Amino acid sequence: MNQQLPQQFTKRLTTSSGIPIDNNQHVLTAGARGPILLQDTNFINKIQKFDRERIPERAAHAQGQGAHGYFEVTHDVTKYTKAKFLQNIGKRTPLFCRMSTTIGSRGSSDLLRDIRGFALKFYTEDGNYDLVGVNFPVFFFRDPMQAPDFFHAMKQHPVKNAFDPNTMFDFFSQVPESIHALTIMYTDRGTPVGYRHMHGYSANTFKWVNEQGQSFFVKYTLKTDQGIKNFSNQEALTTAGIQPYFSSLDLHESIQKGDFPSWKMFVQLIPEAEGELYKWDIYDVTKVWPHGEYPLIPVGRMVLNKTTQNYFAEVDQVAFNPANLVPGIEPSNDRLLQGRLFLYQDTQLHRLGPNHDQIPINCPFAVNNFQQDGLMNVLSNQQKTVTYDNNTTMEEKPKTDPTAAIKPFGLTGLTGRYSYPHSNDDFEQVRTFYKKVLTSQERDALIENICFSLGKCTPQIQQNMLKVFFMVDEDYGSRVQKGLSQSSISSMVGQFAKKVGLSSDKSQLIGESC
Ligand code: NDP
Repeated sequence: MNQQLPQQFTKRLTTSSGIPIDNNQHVLTAGARGPILLQDTNFINKIQKFDRERIPERAAHAQGQGAHGYFEVTHDVTKYTKAKFLQNIGKRTPLFCRMSTTIGSRGSSDLLRDIRGFALKFYTEDGNYDLVGVNFPVFFFRDPMQAPDFFHAMKQHPVKNAFDPNTMFDFFSQVPESIHALTIMYTDRGTPVGYRHMHGYSANTFKWVNEQGQSFFVKYTLKTDQGIKNFSNQEALTTAGIQPYFSSLDLHESIQKGDFPSWKMFVQLIPEAEGELYKWDIYDVTKVWPHGEYPLIPVGRMVLNKTTQNYFAEVDQVAFNPANLVPGIEPSNDRLLQGRLFLYQDTQLHRLGPNHDQIPINCPFAVNNFQQDGLMNVLSNQQKTVTYDNNTTMEEKPKTDPTAAIKPFGLTGLTGRYSYPHSNDDFEQVRTFYKKVLTSQERDALIENICFSLGKCTPQIQQNMLKVFFMVDEDYGSRVQKGLSQSSISSMVGQFAKKVGLSSDKSQLIGESC
């Protein structure tokens, strides 16, 4: 609208209604020393807008950074999925990527030890496809009923308003399947050197369906072309003190310099019938599918080549939802995924309202339906003059597309609140990771990082946690036990405090945080 105005008008300072402002420094008062007049509507407009700047923050993944880019198909996967954006080698689809920490509130450092969000929104011809993953291949729990408890245990203590390692390890010790993600989080991959140097994983299991109706269970891996680079515990803590937003700035500035980060996308696929019989429960998000059994199949490449113009408009208002799946990609019975199909949309309705899909960063290429009205509807109800289906007056009604139907799947059994029905050993994969994947230096760092945090906990919580480490592996348990007894928290924190020049009374407080 304002582009049509003569230039002298567009340069004026105005209210949010576009009315020129005479003075932006002083309120309107009754006399030089008198009270403010209610008539000062410019002041009221300015303050009311300011008071409403904050929208509810995400309960998880509040602190993040985003960038625009594209996805390019590099390999033929048409025998596995009919998803249109994956049909031709060389095909490019625009996307938006948001990376984030999980636990910290908005404004917290993005260098703290955490699992990181790795969320992608592909703007496809079949609507927006959201792949809402993390930087680990597994998650901490597999039943969505536990989600609020997990986040309450990880986030600020209700009285101290500070992270409390006691609540965190208390939860982990009682949910032993968390040990896989916990172990990965306490390697140095829990403190990556910014978002460019980490991999992304779907973690959850989805289904791919091809044109012939054959279906495959699928997990995604995005491998960084920048290479994995991690901070040590001490480097992360020190850098977070100097530049708390290191990861956000690193991503933003590398793209601004023209150094575009990229990731190669791979999938692991299991034919549906085979997956149901697989040793590892394909619906259990605390398990991986070993590469020796299901190798990585290359699909394409993601490149981030454009920074955002405004953080709030794009990075904060982007609304991801794992239920945004395009034909050819379907949910599986992965229980955590099933819970996420509801909870993300619910969060976006709470944060951004019923028309959040109309915000430019979320807007798909085409929407055609009979939905209407609602808070912040800014698109004229799709210019429709008829607002109901089954009408006889529209010349061209939106047509349903039978090819978009999901593949029917069978259900068996009685309803009930089951613990994970096809429960696998929760420790074997962690044991393999600890003994065979980690190098001896990485194991040293793992033990040191765990002791640094667990060392701050009460003896009872340390004992509870030690039982879980011993369940994984004798060496793992005994090294943590030895680390805890050798490096009492006061000496560990004392050493750290000395290195960073903190006085001993202040170092007491470090011992109370994660
Ligand atoms: P592989 O030897 O084929 O793969 C090991 C994987 O571990 C690689 O993808 C490697 O990533 C990754 N890795 C190495 N260090 C870490 C770390 N500190 N944190 C997270 N991932 C790391 O082994 P398998 O597939 O047989 O799996 C063995 C174990 O490796 C699993 O039990 C699991 O704990 C872990 N793992 C398995 C993954 C999978 O999808 N199969 C994915 C990630 C971990 P990189 O490519 O950077 O070397």
